[in-house]
Amino acid sequence: MNIEQLKEIKKRVKEAFKDVKGIAGFGIGDNRIRIYVLNESVELPVEFEGVPLEPVVTGEIRCLENVKPAPFTYTNLQTPERYGCAKCEAKGVKLWRQWNTFLEHIELLCVDCAIKDQCKEITVNEDGRHETYMGMTDQIGNLVPAVPDLENETFWGYTSVPEAGVQWWKHLPLRAEPV
Ligand SMILES: [Zn+2]
Repeated sequence: MNIEQLKEIKKRVKEAFKDVKGIAGFGIGDNRIRIYVLNESVELPVEFEGVPLEPVVTGEIRCLENVKPAPFTYTNLQTPERYGCAKCEAKGVKLWRQWNTFLEHIELLCVDCAIKDQCKEITVNEDGRHETYMGMTDQIGNLVPAVPDLENETFWGYTSVPEAGVQWWKHLPLRAEPV
């Protein structure tokens, strides 16, 4: 199934579930449609027109005042304080980094700034992946997913990211508005 077909199905999913309470947005994953829900009690079918639906719990959206930031873990979709795009300052989204640069020079980039930076014409899905002639990849040109370690002091090397970190990054929204 290609991205254009998934986009069409996403439109119909949106239409079909627009009145369901607790849904925060819709996205496209690897051969599946993501439904961002506010909590686990939102009931959804497992597929739509034969395409798997994957619920992703984003948590309640609350006023940020008076709420202490939770410690950073890979089990929720929070991002560390400094995890923002160096160009457009997008926060709370997937970011990429240079792989061969010293830490103090690393610039984090969101999907759109990364594509511009690398002069690519690609469509990246909600999992942060796109198709190349070599297969699916989550690298954008020379840029790789930026997965901070739990101390938020450095980034995992591309091939050494622990599974929890991989999952955390994969489930971060691609853009600030997943809808
Ligand atoms: Zn950006």
